[in-house]
Amino acid sequence: MPTLTPQNDQETALNLPLWLSNKLMRIPLLSDLLLLVLWLLLWRVAALMEYAPHASIWFPPAGASFAAFLLLGLRAVPAIAIGSILVTFWESYLYHTGMSATQLLSIGSLFAIAHILPYYAGASILRMFIHSDEQKLPRLMLAFVIIGPLSSLSASYCIQISLMLGGAISANDSTNFLWIPLWVGDLIGVMVLTPLSIGLVSRIFPNSGVWLSEIGLRQSPGPNLPFFGKLLLAAFLSTLIMFTAAFFQVRELAFGIFFIGVVQMWIVYTETPLRSAVSIAFLSALTALLVQQLTLGDDALIYQFSISVLAASTYFGLLIPVLASNNERLQEIAHKDGLTKVLARQYFFQLAAQELQRARYYHQPICLVVFDIDHFKSINDTYGHTVGDLALKQLSQTVTSELGPADLLGRFGGDEFMLLLPGSDLEQAQKLLYLVREKVIALKLEQLDIQLKCSAGVTEILAEDTLLKAFERADCMLFEAKKQGRDKIVATI
Ligand code: GH3
Ligand code: MG
Repeated sequence: MPTLTPQNDQETALNLPLWLSNKLMRIPLLSDLLLLVLWLLLWRVAALMEYAPHASIWFPPAGASFAAFLLLGLRAVPAIAIGSILVTFWESYLYHTGMSATQLLSIGSLFAIAHILPYYAGASILRMFIHSDEQKLPRLMLAFVIIGPLSSLSASYCIQISLMLGGAISANDSTNFLWIPLWVGDLIGVMVLTPLSIGLVSRIFPNSGVWLSEIGLRQSPGPNLPFFGKLLLAAFLSTLIMFTAAFFQVRELAFGIFFIGVVQMWIVYTETPLRSAVSIAFLSALTALLVQQLTLGDDALIYQFSISVLAASTYFGLLIPVLASNNERLQEIAHKDGLTKVLARQYFFQLAAQELQRARYYHQPICLVVFDIDHFKSINDTYGHTVGDLALKQLSQTVTSELGPADLLGRFGGDEFMLLLPGSDLEQAQKLLYLVREKVIALKLEQLDIQLKCSAGVTEILAEDTLLKAFERADCMLFEAKKQGRDKIVATI
């Protein structure tokens, strides 16, 4: 990210929180300390939502770790390692385990290794997709929904082993599969909270994540009110569904939570990517809280998986605006001439065929013009190709400004252009061409002493004509105009 040093007082006032955070974050180690505090806070939130020993509905620190490694790489390791050791002491204090400091230090260190290694490895692999290619976002999202769950799976398995090695749990039938609830909690933490954590960590480390704006996470938001309305609706729905499930004690009612998907997708398609991330994080926090408060722990897996599915759908949903704008860009490349921005040859003929059909249906006249700059080569030879390009651009702009909304201008190639004039008969077409000719002659090419002149051949497209036949006729007339000494308009039926 470029440094956000304000240029003037007005900018300072406008960006005060950002400016202040940039100033603060220059204090050595303050960012690392804040990352540690954020991680510890998220851990505490997770601990509050435990529905069974060591099993939380969600484990937000997993999302924070993944995001921190993604943004900062190795730089994030010390804060998260210290955090992992501190929470081991904290947990021991909360549950009065009575373990010695040495024992806790070794369990904490093993936990740190088991937590850090898989998430660091996963984030490092994902980092490769960030700078890979043009199709950045679709590949990044796909990679994220594959690598995120795999990282949390390995982390959970490693944590089970580390807890056994450290003596925090003993190997028996119930603890052998502890990795499953651990995985589901971590999975939600990663899937649901990574994007939001990226937003938070990038605030703490303002120089990280140049790529965030490219994937829309730094897009400026629209009005708040509609967003809050949608969020409130989603919150109301999930509360209603979960209260009903708790009240009637009917397990199938829990599946109603999938309906939240409708509102979440509404948010995804109408709000910024950051807001979609906020919304999925908020809804998962609410769900986790309600599972815990309404003692719905028996059905925790249903809620956890529905939230994970929702998060994965959210990421794929976020791709749609990006794919749509990519499509638009590709269409523009395919349909328009790169230099002059008039229609590319193929697209011109495609549209011209449609216009011809329409003109025939309504029995309207339609004319085709082919024109070419006179002695264009000498402009290139005298002033260079850059000036030649400028001449082509300005000529295209001038001609376009004289056309009606139904008229089409295309570039055949080089300095040769085509014009389709629906609704114009030969006389009207010539009248327009003389007008255009005057404008082109009057054109001043930025302080250069160049006068552009063109020759044109024009024909009316008749009932028995094909577009190609009419084009050949107009091209012949252009040749005739050149033969007659250039700067001429030659017409034929
Ligand atoms: P005439 O009056 O007979 O048309 O003579 P002319 O010099 O214009 O000859 P012609 O139309 O055959 O030459 C077209 C020239 O346009 C040849 C080529 O070097 C140049 N040209 C083609 N495409 C481009 C382009 O994209 N940019 C520039 N600057 N020149 C181009
Ligand atoms: Mg020419």
